[in-house]
Amino acid sequence: MPEKRYLFTPGPTPVPPQVLEVLARPAIHHRGPDFVAVYERVLSRLKEVYRTENDVLLFTASGTGAFESAVANLTEPGERSLVVSYGNFGERWAGMVAAYGADLDHLRCDWGDAPEPDEVGRRARGAAVCYLVHSETSTGVVSDLAPLAAAAKEAGALVVVDAVSSLGAVPCETDEWGLDVVVSGSQKALMTPPGLGLVSVSEAALAKAAATSTARYYFDWERTRAAQAKRDAPFTPAVPLVLALDAALELILAEGLEAAFDRHVALGRATRAGIKAMGLELASPDDDSAAVVTTVRAPEGVDVAAFLRDLRDRLGVQLIGGQGEWRGKVFRIGHIGYFDLFDVTTALAAVEDGLVAAGAEVERGASIPAALAAYEGARTRT
Ligand code: PLP
Repeated sequence: MPEKRYLFTPGPTPVPPQVLEVLARPAIHHRGPDFVAVYERVLSRLKEVYRTENDVLLFTASGTGAFESAVANLTEPGERSLVVSYGNFGERWAGMVAAYGADLDHLRCDWGDAPEPDEVGRRARGAAVCYLVHSETSTGVVSDLAPLAAAAKEAGALVVVDAVSSLGAVPCETDEWGLDVVVSGSQKALMTPPGLGLVSVSEAALAKAAATSTARYYFDWERTRAAQAKRDAPFTPAVPLVLALDAALELILAEGLEAAFDRHVALGRATRAGIKAMGLELASPDDDSAAVVTTVRAPEGVDVAAFLRDLRDRLGVQLIGGQGEWRGKVFRIGHIGYFDLFDVTTALAAVEDGLVAAGAEVERGASIPAALAAYEGARTRT
């Protein structure tokens, strides 16, 4: 039969057929009325998903581009910025903030750990901006964002959050938690192909941006905010992706955000139960916070790159390895977005088969029943 592929990475994630169908439609112009109606609806649906009254700015860029918009609009060279990192993406933001000439204070936690609100509050004193990561996709840790954001705000800093892999998967209460800037991307829980970067901006963040001297043009927030207010994109947007995001947001809101959060918790439980039943060790937390990605320590003697290549080439199953200091030590199973129980069981079956082929000692046949039971337990409790 023709090759069948399974995408179980924490981004890009599988795209539902209802969204794929939109991508095949004939081209339309972004200044025409049919696009403007969709644009307006997408901007308003994004506010629902973000749970905010703030504007959500839409950029044709990956999540990193949207994040760069935050750094470009908020950095006054020489002014102190705090970056709190506990994995690869925090490291990326530290590099970016330094590149823009901020006086970088980098609070580095060990990979796999989460930061402490008290320490964040202490270090945020005197910082103009505090950058936090909600879901650190490189480790599988989802931080308890509300107290971290509260501590940074209390210290007087604007709070910028990387919610690229968390928005739509786990609760992100932009307004309730006082998050000034929340950055996300289309290709994770929002079930759309890569290419759209999203940024919610509070009044305070816009005011700070108006006062900073850093040069920017494409990513200038005010240019995009003013254009969006007239339902007129400032530059040619990725029209098919905006149409696709509209279809995906419709699906997400029809399921309901709370139902989607519960589903992600259940998927996380099922994945962890299956992994542990195989006798493998988790590197991500063994609790319901780990609802985005499950990170697994590679068994002794397994070459992670060769194992993942084998899964992809022989079984059509795409998982992903570790990043940064966890490269070669772990592999990751994403369970965000258009993902159900049988995606988990397929991923687990592939992991078992691939590890046996790699010569590892794993408990055979135990992971699927464990995953099914954990999922059922989670669904009946939620
Ligand atoms: N932040 C997190 C937590 C991510 O998972 C990713 C995804 O790769 C990014 C940032 C970067 O986003 P992108 O690859 O869309 O630039």
